[in-house]
Amino acid sequence: MSEILVLAAHDGESVKKVTLELLTLARRFGEPAAVWLGSGADGARERLAEYGAAKVYVAGGDDVTDYVAAPAAEVLAALVAQASPTAVLVPSTAEGKEVAGRLAVKIGSGVLTDAVDLTPGDGGPVAEQSIFGGAIIVKSKVTTGTPIVAVRPNAVPPEASPAAAALEPVSVELNSAAKGAHITERVAQERSERPELTEASIVVSGGRGVGNAENFALIEGLADKLGAAVGASRAATDAGWYPHQFQVGQTGKTVSPQLYLAVGISGAIQHRAGMQTSKTIMVINKDPEAPIFELADFGVVGDLFKVVPQLTEEITRRQGS
Ligand SMILES: Cc1cc2nc3c(=O)[nH]c(=O)nc-3n(C[C@H](O)[C@H](O)[C@H](O)COP(=O)(O)OP(=O)(O)OC[C@H]3O[C@@H](n4cnc5c(N)ncnc54)[C@H](O)[C@@H]3O)c2cc1C
Repeated sequence: MSEILVLAAHDGESVKKVTLELLTLARRFGEPAAVWLGSGADGARERLAEYGAAKVYVAGGDDVTDYVAAPAAEVLAALVAQASPTAVLVPSTAEGKEVAGRLAVKIGSGVLTDAVDLTPGDGGPVAEQSIFGGAIIVKSKVTTGTPIVAVRPNAVPPEASPAAAALEPVSVELNSAAKGAHITERVAQERSERPELTEASIVVSGGRGVGNAENFALIEGLADKLGAAVGASRAATDAGWYPHQFQVGQTGKTVSPQLYLAVGISGAIQHRAGMQTSKTIMVINKDPEAPIFELADFGVVGDLFKVVPQLTEEITRRQGS
């Protein structure tokens, strides 16, 4: 069976959920082989095995992690030449897309980004993508070279399927061009207990309707009951009610959770661009004409200051806590 290379996203210790999703998708096309850059592969091996990695290529050493993006493309290019995989899957994050682009140039292949699903097709995977700010869904496939596909987090739920995850060291001599941007310092971001916005299965976002920074406690309270991440519209972040790093949309983060709750958000095209591919969309808005209702699977027309506390209370009651 031919290999599918999956670039593993990790923090040096634990595997990010998107990696397990990519391994799940990769099994539709062949035998997944994870590509691990830097240290920590030993500790992560069990998890990678659980989700179907037959092999784990490990490019350890400081060289691959001390420079921005380019070393990942070098390692993947070397593995494409060595293993002739059916496809290469990377997370569709800012860094993943940069790696995908660089790899495509290196090996002369086509690249697809922001895929929200992958299905088998003639001559390679067919990617579903959302384009024009999320207004249109298209299906595309790579026609030149080894398909490189960047897939958004939450495209599929991760499914376990045990495999060997045999560790295989890879040694790649980086050329000087790959060492163009050296990482001089890493500062760990303060982490809340909530899941990371782009990885979360549920996102609760607040907009201008929330009214002020203090009222975001309502959004956080609902999010915490659901084990969700908190997002915000640009109106809310520009007003200083919530930090910019949580902005969802064209100039913020792109999310694709199983459930997206938009609270007091009108649904401007720039906001939609960041959340339109969510699997289920629920809206709470007092204006029945708000454009966000066009996207909604479930909509509540009402005052968020009444609806959100009732919803949080009902979830608490059902959870029995
Ligand atoms: C180049 C560019 C890039 C942009 N990028 C982004 C981006 O990345 N992300 C983004 O979000 N925006 C972005 N915007 C801004 C975007 O155009 C909108 O201005 C913004 O999304 C509006 O945010 P909002 O929906 O929270 O506010 P509004 O449009 O003001 O909507 C507020 C909503 O809250 C409802 N509401 C008010 N009170 C209540 C209540 N008590 N209960 C229930 N509902 C209530 C109202 O009915 C209304 O629908 C961008 C704009 C430009 C020009």
